[in-house]
Amino acid sequence: MVAGKRVVVIGGGIAGMGVAKALVEKAGGQVEVTVVTKDPFYMAGPSRPLILTGEQKYERIIRGYEEAAAKGIRVVYGLVDRIDPAERKVHYTEAPTKAGESVLEYDYLVVAPGVVFDGSEIEGYDKYWYKNATVYEPGRVDVLKKRLWSITEGTVVVYAPPMPYRCAPAPSETTLLAHTILAHRGVRGKVRVIHVDANDKPQPPVIADVIKNLYEQAGIELITSRKLVEIGPDYIVLDDGEKINYTILAALEPNRAPKFIAEAGLGDKWFEVRSPQDLRSPKYDDILAAGDAAKLPFPKNQEIAYESALYAANKILEDLGVGERIPVQYAFLGWAYVGNLAGKLETESVKFGLNFTTKPPKPSKDPEPKKDYTKAKDEWEQAYLRNLFGY
Ligand SMILES: Cc1cc2nc3c(=O)[nH]c(=O)nc-3n(C[C@H](O)[C@H](O)[C@H](O)COP(=O)(O)OP(=O)(O)OC[C@H]3O[C@@H](n4cnc5c(N)ncnc54)[C@H](O)[C@@H]3O)c2cc1C
Repeated sequence: MVAGKRVVVIGGGIAGMGVAKALVEKAGGQVEVTVVTKDPFYMAGPSRPLILTGEQKYERIIRGYEEAAAKGIRVVYGLVDRIDPAERKVHYTEAPTKAGESVLEYDYLVVAPGVVFDGSEIEGYDKYWYKNATVYEPGRVDVLKKRLWSITEGTVVVYAPPMPYRCAPAPSETTLLAHTILAHRGVRGKVRVIHVDANDKPQPPVIADVIKNLYEQAGIELITSRKLVEIGPDYIVLDDGEKINYTILAALEPNRAPKFIAEAGLGDKWFEVRSPQDLRSPKYDDILAAGDAAKLPFPKNQEIAYESALYAANKILEDLGVGERIPVQYAFLGWAYVGNLAGKLETESVKFGLNFTTKPPKPSKDPEPKKDYTKAKDEWEQAYLRNLFGY
């Protein structure tokens, strides 16, 4: 027996849990909210790069869903592989909490599965993918850590694909943390560090000058406006034919939304929305997007993901005629890790922001790296996890 309108949310991350929590709090009793997500745990993204230096530990950034479920959000574990908009059904595989179940029916569907890191268009990726490791995923970041802590000579190459990709500064963070570790280990003089960027400057543009300045001080080489087109066993090839040998490769693959979105006719690479404030599909009033999977004219980061989740929740509340609207606007503050040029394992960060409520969007920054900003980023991340996962 369903208590109210059935809202199914795909993805139990920042955006998915943001929508679910907002709806349960504002319209509990009138909606039944089910989050279907692939893993029985969530790991925060922003501080993953600090796993490299040992300044972050997995146990501080992993959360289970039990406390959120105790507050009224139904959570189902499973991998969504198909949406049927005509039948209003979500199909998923594996269901450890309820044997045999593999379909969820909805009155409203919120699609918030984040991004897929897709290297399939890079020649040689299928053969040499294992040569590459980034800070983006658990496990892979440990591989990169192990490699950075054992290299004695050679070349570290970091690559950023064309925007949009998740977390604009992460490739620069990786580069500067690699420098920090190599300087700490006393091998920096024998290891070249190169950042190749498909964009015309390191991202986000608001701190590109700060990053370039730090790179100059650290002797880091920067190549911009070049795409990675091939990965070999110990070299990469860029789109102008330049071949660069690597010892360690940390190449972020181009990002896209999971394929089931395109297969349901909801967009191509990203879920098409009516506007940043109205996240409904132009084709279906009952299907909305939230988070990094949505095609928004903003960077893909945690603050924007959460704000889009609140806009999505507001649209459902408005449609149901229940609850009050949640105040929200698009703006964010962020902190980019810039390592420690002297090689101390005490990462400094720079603070930056963008406010999209003004035209043009208003950037802000403090270009001075500070240890306090690294601490502020940690507190901000922990506050998000407490808010969404209940501890
Ligand atoms: C290394 C790294 C550094 C970052 N740094 C910053 C930073 O400094 N500042 C900042 O603001 N943001 C940062 N981010 C970005 C931030 O983490 C994301 O923008 C944010 O998590 C997006 O929220 P989301 O809900 O769209 O996706 P996610 O939080 O990734 O949640 C998606 C959820 O959907 C689940 N899922 C995926 N596919 C399926 C499927 N088919 N079926 C069921 N479930 C599925 C996933 O398991 C996951 O639980 C960083 C991210 C990473 C990885």
